[in-house]
Amino acid sequence: HADAAMYAAKGRGRNNFQFFTHELNRLANERLTVETAMRGALERDEFDVHYQPKVDHRRRIIGVEALARWFHPELGTVTPDRFIPIAEEAGLILPLTTAILRRAFAAARQWNRERQTPLRLAVNLSPQLFLGEDIVPHIAGLLSEAQLPASLVELEITENVFLGDGERAIAILRGFKALGCSLAMDDFGTGYSSLGYLRRFPLDIIKIDRSLVTGIEHEGDEAMIARAAISLGQSLLKTVVAEGVENQAQFDFLREQGCDEFQGYLLSRPLPYADFARLLDAETDRSPAAA
Ligand code: C2E
Ligand code: MG
Ligand code: MG
Ligand code: MG
Repeated sequence: HADAAMYAAKGRGRNNFQFFTHELNRLANERLTVETAMRGALERDEFDVHYQPKVDHRRRIIGVEALARWFHPELGTVTPDRFIPIAEEAGLILPLTTAILRRAFAAARQWNRERQTPLRLAVNLSPQLFLGEDIVPHIAGLLSEAQLPASLVELEITENVFLGDGERAIAILRGFKALGCSLAMDDFGTGYSSLGYLRRFPLDIIKIDRSLVTGIEHEGDEAMIARAAISLGQSLLKTVVAEGVENQAQFDFLREQGCDEFQGYLLSRPLPYADFARLLDAETDRSPAAA
């Protein structure tokens, strides 16, 4: 926003200097408002978590992704794409993620008690948090507090993690592997870093970004790019997950290409705790005949 405002101001001369300062002030105020509201919401434990299922090729639920949700009485719904970066800048990403993980770990523990087949839990870690101090022991502590086995947890990170000190990122990834967690590359196909990290870093899962899934059912360039991304993941022996699957034609295409897991509105939107619990109940998981 600020860049756009500056260019606009340059183009239109001196009068626009005022416009520019106003615009900057407005943005700074808006950010401060969100930041202040966020501190309050954290104190009152108002951040919520929604749960979106991941299914296998037979549409059986095998996992769930925890997604942060925030409704503020005055600001309304604030989306994670907006509040996560603000939390990072305000130094609030650790308490925020801790609140999210506490809820999600407790939910996963509960659901896994009631099931025969394990339900894996995926959570998102922002780059700043991931690369910050002592993240591995912190998450180990939350896992033991929740009595959730690390083997049920997938940590989703993005390519940005690899832009800085690669050795440090590798050490942290190894720490999580030693703990027993799985590691997933989220939003695969949207980043700017080289593909070399796929070989160098101990990742288990690649999540093909929604932008690569859009349009694949029309057998054009989109289909070719998605195919290439899937086969790259397969060649490297990663579990390949497709996100943003919105219709049956996309699901069929992805299944035919050998995707292992599927996530998207076709299967289910992210749901509040109780609704997701009902979705699990409705499945035939408990009946031995289902296998
Ligand atoms: P993500 O991890 O890639 O999550 C997938 C996003 O796509 C979610 O948006 C989900 O609601 C949406 N989605 C799922 N299926 C479909 C579909 O079929 N069509 C469309 N159009 N969208 C679909 P959401 O919940 O708004 O989250 C956006 C991003 O915010 C997430 O992308 C993730 O990067 C971040 N995020 C969410 N929760 C957390 C969190 O607890 N911690 C951190 N660090 N980041 C989070
Ligand atoms: Mg994710
Ligand atoms: Mg993603
Ligand atoms: Mg995304």
